[in-house]
Amino acid sequence: MDSKDYRRWRFVSRALSVVGGVVFLIGLFSEGSASRTALFWAGGAAFFVGVAVAVIMLKCPVCGDRLPAAWLKECPHCGADLRDI
Ligand SMILES: [Zn+2]
Repeated sequence: MDSKDYRRWRFVSRALSVVGGVVFLIGLFSEGSASRTALFWAGGAAFFVGVAVAVIMLKCPVCGDRLPAAWLKECPHCGADLRDI
């Protein structure tokens, strides 16, 4: 995986996790049971898809090993700096 692909999938994963997390919290704290339940589940699902994207798609651009999350500062396998790759 080259660094362009890495950045793209990292963005997708982070965006889904953040948006999903926000929608989940809105659902958690909003009034009205129907919209609340829908937001709750949609947000939760988007969050977990975001996490799954990181687990399935993200590989270190330096050593090619799988990365467990989209928020890592460095590769746990080869120690490559992932912040500005
Ligand atoms: Zn690595």
